[in-house]
Amino acid sequence: MAGPEGEPCSLYIHIPFCAGACDYCDFYSIPVEAGDPRLDSYVGALLADAEYTLASFGIDRVPTLYIGGGTPSLLGAGRIDRLLAGLGSLLPNPPVEITVEANPESADRSFLETCRKRGVTRLSLGVQTFHEPSRRQVHRVGEGALLPERLRLVQEYFGAAFSADLITGLPGQDRGVLLEDLKKLLAFTPGHVSLYALTPEAGTPLTAEPRFKALLPPADEADRLWLIGRDTLEQAGYNQYEVSNFALPGKESIHNIRYWRMENWLGLGPAASGTIIDDRTGRGTRYTIAADVEAYLNAPVEGRVSVGDGVLSPMREKNLVFVESLDRTVLMKETCLMGFRSIEGPDPRLFIRRFGRDIAECIPGTLARWRNRGLIRPDRIALRREGLLFLDSFLAGCFEELEHTER
Ligand code: SF4
Repeated sequence: MAGPEGEPCSLYIHIPFCAGACDYCDFYSIPVEAGDPRLDSYVGALLADAEYTLASFGIDRVPTLYIGGGTPSLLGAGRIDRLLAGLGSLLPNPPVEITVEANPESADRSFLETCRKRGVTRLSLGVQTFHEPSRRQVHRVGEGALLPERLRLVQEYFGAAFSADLITGLPGQDRGVLLEDLKKLLAFTPGHVSLYALTPEAGTPLTAEPRFKALLPPADEADRLWLIGRDTLEQAGYNQYEVSNFALPGKESIHNIRYWRMENWLGLGPAASGTIIDDRTGRGTRYTIAADVEAYLNAPVEGRVSVGDGVLSPMREKNLVFVESLDRTVLMKETCLMGFRSIEGPDPRLFIRRFGRDIAECIPGTLARWRNRGLIRPDRIALRREGLLFLDSFLAGCFEELEHTER
């Protein structure tokens, strides 16, 4: 099961295909029709890549598997069956958590049934909003009218073992619209809800098209809406366990918790990345696969990605995999960046094991200042719920101190 340093690695698989292109999205995906022949080739390429990569790292077991995108449900029942069956034969010990992302328009009965049959433990559904005028303004893929039916189906196959994404700060969204979205969604009792504040990312139509300047709510109104969403979820029994994530007890995403703890992971597919950290030195390696489906499909079968231990992949030779070394300071910063997103904070024992330092001794000034403001939890090195609202400012203080830690 071990990665190169004896630590378990999670596995992320990227499906870079969508039925359209939403104006706010900065994930790598290309629009395709459901019958596009590249979908079949892609599953074959992924399985060949998985076999090679897992063997290169000596991995036959992963704690968690996450198939995200893009839109994995666009693969349809037949291809997801082939992908999950193929991964199952490479990983004879099933992961404790297998998540598949889906969009309502392609999450039909046969897709959900196949996922369930093949051991998927958790489905993540892109709801975003039921409000059709808001959806249209951002060219959200799919139709709001289909959502209740698909949520019923997801509930039938997964009970509460599903997550739903909602977005706040959309054009045309006000308090009433948001509360209606939450009421409609919570009627299906998802175990997990991700509540994202709409963020205009560089390079997306949301920042490039001038029409959005007039359409988007002002920043303070957008913040207010997100807080209304947070409070409504908490009143309904969902605990905020990360900046944007809420769960009923026991329904947290294990895979994402592993990211926030900076555990090792491998990624497969264009735009995916993997990070392996050596616990003995506190140094690591990250690879990122080029965001190019065609290049990925045309790369030699034996190894679209592999790093370290003398294994050099053909894609790397062609500059299709970017490999970087991560030094201790970079990794300490990333550990804070990811760890303080979570209500539990970074894992203090893992920090000592990797860096030979107590985290509290690395950022004493920042912790003291934020403790004085009442924003640090009394029981552990972590931000309180209200402190999460000022995460960026807290991290700026941490980074400044960490710059000096290793000198
Ligand atoms: S469906 Fe999801 S991944 Fe695809 S373009 Fe829209 S937001 Fe992005």
